[in-house]
Amino acid sequence: MPDKDKIGHRPTWAEINLNDLDYNFRQVKSHLSRLTKVLVTVKADAYGHGLIPVSKRLAASGVDYLGVASIDEGIKLRKAQVKTPILVLGVILKQDIQSLFTFKLTPTVCDYELALALSRKAAGLKKPMRLHIKVDTGMGRIGVAHQDALELVSKIYKLKSVVIEGIFTHFPFADSGRKFTTFQIKLFYKLVADLRKRGIIIPLVHAANSAGLINHRDSHFTMVRPGLVIYGLHPQKGSRIKLKPVLSLKTRVIFIKQVPSGSGISYGHAYITKRPACIVTLPIGYGDGYPRNLSNLGPLLIGGKRFNISGRICMDQIMVDVGDFKPRLAAEVVLIGKQGKQRILAEELADLAGTIPYEIVCGLGSRIPRVYLS
Ligand SMILES: *Cc1c(COP(=O)(O)O)cnc(C)c1O
Repeated sequence: MPDKDKIGHRPTWAEINLNDLDYNFRQVKSHLSRLTKVLVTVKADAYGHGLIPVSKRLAASGVDYLGVASIDEGIKLRKAQVKTPILVLGVILKQDIQSLFTFKLTPTVCDYELALALSRKAAGLKKPMRLHIKVDTGMGRIGVAHQDALELVSKIYKLKSVVIEGIFTHFPFADSGRKFTTFQIKLFYKLVADLRKRGIIIPLVHAANSAGLINHRDSHFTMVRPGLVIYGLHPQKGSRIKLKPVLSLKTRVIFIKQVPSGSGISYGHAYITKRPACIVTLPIGYGDGYPRNLSNLGPLLIGGKRFNISGRICMDQIMVDVGDFKPRLAAEVVLIGKQGKQRILAEELADLAGTIPYEIVCGLGSRIPRVYLS
């Protein structure tokens, strides 16, 4: 039970179990050949789990690379003394390249202009720059079109002060459309083979996100790039990998009152009691990133029993009709995680809210303190 110096005066917090993070990392490793390297994506504050503690634990467990969305996320890691190689997965502007050198971050390159600017800067600083080239094989996001990739890579290869350490692509469909992913893998294989024929051998070839890693063995190449599974969340139903959810979301009963039958609860009285009932109030709301469209829907656990949120979710509070159950004041409530024999998964909340588990965990706001268990 975290105390005030950990979570402050509002008893709502997320528990991040770093041993379970480790377990998932080992599960992923056991799906790979021994030589396949692993880049874990820790963008968006490690999917809401906390960039620094998560990255430090992964570094201690031997992760090969960390993936961030922006230079700023990379700088935060370096300032926290994380020494693991860091790939900035998003594109960057030419005017921002100095920080890559200062903080030893590896950029993603999709065009010749950026590669040239990097090479010039690197020459001036007498520090060769490693880079990864992103190829679009069908995601339609950043990346050089696969038809133009052979030419671009060959041209960048000739630049004196950059080293092509990696080449990668991304799957839009790895959780469903098997055929399209298989087609992308083929395109990417052919590109790598054609480069090899030209004598261009790139050590880190990567494509697989979590779903790709599980569903397509031939997508592993020399490195994989999982995020979601490392946090113990499944990219699809019935996936074959055994994982432990790393994050639990908890709060406490802050107020209890008995109301008569026919009482309207919360904004718009979208819930009206059908009998005399006990209504408890919990100090969490959409201002914490708990989805408001779980109003009258979101499940939670009190005293080892399942209840649902009653009425509209407010910014800072939610109410629950617990019927004739009598919880204690300050009793622990679980919104994501286990209590007794019951469990609520982020995947379940995502389904109910009409979104994906990624958005549930990334959305949890900075107002919720993260408490680390290890
Ligand atoms: C976020 C991200 C991943 C990880 O995806 P998951 O589905 O979380 O495994 C992999 N590659 C890129 C380029 C990403 O942006």
